[in-house]
Amino acid sequence: MKDCIFCKIAEGQIPSHKVYEDDDVLAFLDISQVTPGHTLVISKKHYSNFLTTEKDIMHKVMDVAQRIGQAQMSILGAKGVNILTNVNKEAGQSVFHFHVHVIPRYIANEGFRIEMKQNEKLSELSLPALADEIKKAI
Ligand code: 5GP
Ligand code: ZN
Repeated sequence: MKDCIFCKIAEGQIPSHKVYEDDDVLAFLDISQVTPGHTLVISKKHYSNFLTTEKDIMHKVMDVAQRIGQAQMSILGAKGVNILTNVNKEAGQSVFHFHVHVIPRYIANEGFRIEMKQNEKLSELSLPALADEIKKAI
């Protein structure tokens, strides 16, 4: 897609430090390293995010993400890994081409932190009704 930075990286128009490549998937180091080895895994074909990606391609990207996480643990000496993908700007997505972050973690709380705080205002939520609503839509 025109003007998409990750399409340009996939096509080799913009250089990147590649760690993996096949016909459908490319992985390269994130330009802003959260921790040493922070890698992005992308589909070569343009999809705007995880939710809109064709299932077999999404599976291939996730397979590579798993292998990179395993390599970060065995070769880089990471003690943990965060694997995450942001969908839309409300969730922090800034590049609208499907990608998965694979972030090796060496020391607890060094790098970044996802804090999941219970929102006290939501204590009245009906969990059975919510679960039903989501269940029906799958
Ligand atoms: P998002 O915020 O969309 O989940 O993540 C986008 C990521 O792409 C960011 O972590 C950002 O550092 C990375 N990024 C943006 N532009 C480039 C680039 O030109 N090259 C590389 N290697 N990474 C990039
Ligand atoms: Zn793209």
